[in-house]
Amino acid sequence: TPGLYLVATPIGNLGDITVRAVDILSRCDGVACEDTRVTGKLLKHLGISKPLWRYDDHSEHRDRSRLLDSMRSRAVALVSDAGTPMVSDPGYRLVNDCREQGIPVTSIPGPCAAVVGLTLSGLPNDRFLFAGFLPTKDKARREMLAEMAAIDATLILYETAPRLLKSLAAIEDMMPKREIAVARELTKLHEECRRGFSAGLMAYYDANPPKGEIVLLIGPPEAQQANEADADDMLIEALATMKPSQAAGH
Ligand code: SAM
Repeated sequence: TPGLYLVATPIGNLGDITVRAVDILSRCDGVACEDTRVTGKLLKHLGISKPLWRYDDHSEHRDRSRLLDSMRSRAVALVSDAGTPMVSDPGYRLVNDCREQGIPVTSIPGPCAAVVGLTLSGLPNDRFLFAGFLPTKDKARREMLAEMAAIDATLILYETAPRLLKSLAAIEDMMPKREIAVARELTKLHEECRRGFSAGLMAYYDANPPKGEIVLLIGPPEAQQANEADADDMLIEALATMKPSQAAGH
């Protein structure tokens, strides 16, 4: 049926394409993608041949209108180079326009580096905040970290190998004493997830310059963990001093 299909694709391991993604990519009328070469390779691997249209949110309004028009009568898949469309990738404007114009949108879920990194890290995951990429300029990067320092959640950031050390240094200054996880090359041959504090991780990556793609995770502020531990202690103490009749609720 006509409309927009948001299709998640693998982030490294081609085995992670879903059965439904293959089905939609085989049956759609065309695929809008970030880079026709990258998506062309994926489709070739899947044995699928479809018209490919380059799309990003900065594309001319004219191009987007054309794409939207075609979705009224055709099924168009949107994929990014890797992972889930719109998670630090194009698609936001397209989906927004579809919603406004009553064009059906369907999401075909699949890999997302942020979620893979979070699950592998072992950091608290009851609350997490995905914040995309840190700014590239040091001042702006530090400001953003300062802004997020008090948030009571694990922070998930996308990172590039050449910038990892600078980000760790900024975290050391703006968010000291936080547990950090560096999740690298997820789902690939050299997948690695290294936990530690900023100083230790800086020393390690200074000696072993990182390669590949990185998700950087910052555990919640210690104060919060301490508060939780305090709350547990208070509860245990209260229970211990309670008379049996109180504990039974009489
Ligand atoms: N939409 C994608 C997703 O759902 O994960 C993310 C696209 S974003 C432009 C690219 C960033 O995602 C990389 O710089 C890296 O931070 C992260 N990333 C993507 N694949 C990864 C992988 N296999 N291992 C670690 N990080 C990855």
